[in-house]
Amino acid sequence: MDRVYTSKSFCSGCSACYSICPVKAINMQSDRKGFFYPVIDTKTCIDCGLCVKVCPLNKDIKKNEPLKFYGLKNANIETRLTSSSGGVFFELAKYVIKQSGVVYGASYDENLKVCHNKAETIEDCIKFKGSKYVKSDLKETFLEIKSLVKNKKLVLFSALPCEVAGLKNFIGKSDYLICIDLICNGGPSPKIFEEFKRYQEKKFNKNLESINFRFKEEASKKIKFIFKDNSVKKESIYNSFYFKLYGMGLIDRKCCFSCKFNNLNRVGDITIGDYWGVEKYFKTFDDSQGVSLSICNTPKGYGIFNKVLSNFEFIELTKEQSLQPRINNGGVKKKFLVREFWILNKIFKVKTVYNIFIPYFKLRRFVGKMVRKILR
Ligand SMILES: Cc1cc2nc3c(=O)[nH]c(=O)nc-3n(C[C@H](O)[C@H](O)[C@H](O)COP(=O)(O)OP(=O)(O)OC[C@H]3O[C@@H](n4cnc5c(N)ncnc54)[C@H](O)[C@@H]3O)c2cc1C
Ligand code: SF4
Ligand code: SF4
Ligand code: SF4
Repeated sequence: MDRVYTSKSFCSGCSACYSICPVKAINMQSDRKGFFYPVIDTKTCIDCGLCVKVCPLNKDIKKNEPLKFYGLKNANIETRLTSSSGGVFFELAKYVIKQSGVVYGASYDENLKVCHNKAETIEDCIKFKGSKYVKSDLKETFLEIKSLVKNKKLVLFSALPCEVAGLKNFIGKSDYLICIDLICNGGPSPKIFEEFKRYQEKKFNKNLESINFRFKEEASKKIKFIFKDNSVKKESIYNSFYFKLYGMGLIDRKCCFSCKFNNLNRVGDITIGDYWGVEKYFKTFDDSQGVSLSICNTPKGYGIFNKVLSNFEFIELTKEQSLQPRINNGGVKKKFLVREFWILNKIFKVKTVYNIFIPYFKLRRFVGKMVRKILR
């Protein structure tokens, strides 16, 4: 066999094929956009077909009908302020650690690259807090989790839905595996993230230690850059070219444009996201410090969720009150100038390409507004 996926639109880089190959013929290699894809060494491959069979983008996968919907705020304000939304993930992680389990999530490594890692203590789970808006490198995570659940160790795995789907296909049914899937707007390019970091380092002439994409301690939404000399800089997300490129759908992985996971039928036991639109239904519940939307999708997920619910201020929601764009309208994203963006990024740095593109997006928005006015 020479390829697992038929086209890049059908590969999320989940690493299930890499993990299942019995002769280690698959390597996960990054393309020029920094996204990982499986590459087969045809000399080692024994044509067993397992890689194709395990791929979640290759076939219909089992999804769960939601059982319960909640709007939540962690009662511990410190936890909420250091989490992206209402601080649901950390509470679930704490529960699993207290049951002598282990937690896998996305964190920064020493080079500020985002990858999945393991935590065995509550303190170690702190590194997973906060959304890192870039596709994570899953490395050996699936193989490690398989060995743990086989030895009856409880594992909490938190990731984007396409990654959860890959792990579930790889592991099969297990009472010891709990999966959290995040509501997902798309997986941004690790290469553009690298360029973004280099841009900030050059701008401030110092090396970065960490980035908090969802800094909450000031009234407006900000990204916080922490440098190695302990100094801090903040930037409004509305002025951040990285967030704007993400919002414009220019830096997502190819499969995100036809994502089959972003709807109400979920792959995880528990789904967590931001409760965007909370003010529409519950004006006083929103205090601008982050409200989570959580969905329990399986009896196992509901059982665990029930154990931590008393640590939140929460409202049980109806399905209608829970609907928000990334779970309501399927996963289809419009492609506009994506190809052109990547062609230009071969020649120019990302900030230059951004400056070239902005007028086109402004014009597009203006024309869209005019058309809507005329049709009204
Ligand atoms: C790329 C991305 C896109 C998202 N898009 C949306 C969206 O459109 N709508 C929405 O409602 N919510 C979205 N979210 C989820 C949201 O930002 C919060 O992560 C979620 O609400 C959980 O918040 P929390 O306060 O419970 O916990 P937090 O402490 O903020 O949760 C962090 C959890 O997210 C995981 N995580 C962080 N970065 C990554 C990553 N790169 N890959 C995989 N897992 C990661 C960590 O492992 C940890 O489990 C997105 C998250 C990511 C990472
Ligand atoms: S199993 Fe995952 S990494 Fe492998 S081809 Fe399928 S989506 Fe891509
Ligand atoms: S067909 Fe089998 S041996 Fe070949 S790459 Fe796929 S899993 Fe590995
Ligand atoms: S949009 Fe879909 S395919 Fe893309 S990262 Fe999110 S879950 Fe995966």
